[in-house]
Amino acid sequence: MSDHLTTGCFCLREILGSETPRLQAMVLSEADWDRAPRESKRPYPFGLPYFTRSTETPTLVFPSELSEALQPRTNLTTPLTVWHELAHAFFLDREPVKMPLWLGELVPQAASAAVALREGVPLKEHLSRIEPTGFTVREFTLPASAGDQMRFQNLLLLFGVAAVRRFGDGFLLRLIRSMRDESEVVDGNRATELFAASLGGDGSGWLSRREEF
Ligand SMILES: [Zn+2]
Repeated sequence: MSDHLTTGCFCLREILGSETPRLQAMVLSEADWDRAPRESKRPYPFGLPYFTRSTETPTLVFPSELSEALQPRTNLTTPLTVWHELAHAFFLDREPVKMPLWLGELVPQAASAAVALREGVPLKEHLSRIEPTGFTVREFTLPASAGDQMRFQNLLLLFGVAAVRRFGDGFLLRLIRSMRDESEVVDGNRATELFAASLGGDGSGWLSRREEF
């Protein structure tokens, strides 16, 4: 776990162009899970990691064992999950504007894929185990079943990997900067515009051809 955090902090500082945010991480067993810091009164389900600002120093909370709901299971499930939550911590450094769910979750998914690609971690096996979904990232809405939420995240991972491979991971920093310049709610059309512009080149043409989108 600490290796994944070190690697993640090192790469995300460059990818997301910011200093490592002030944060602490804890790994808790099921017996200790009800002591985990959180926003709600009741504990969250055991097995799902999260990032919380309910503590004076924001905390990444990890379960000692990942929930079966997190799929697919390969040796990349844990590091990708750690880098995803860590990217949220970098990205949520400041209060973000309201934006479509796909855009808010695309950033940590693409960033965690970018860490893996920078580290030369082979993604092929993990990605090949992702099952197809019956929806696009823009069609997905909450509330949704745990299974559909996982399918949504995996679709964003495939989409994020495709974007990083095609355009390089520099678009993430451009995207975050442009999102920080937005003062109002970012609606679906504006989100697509910002994303396409951050990709650069043929970004909007590429987006219009992506089935996941
Ligand atoms: Zn997330």
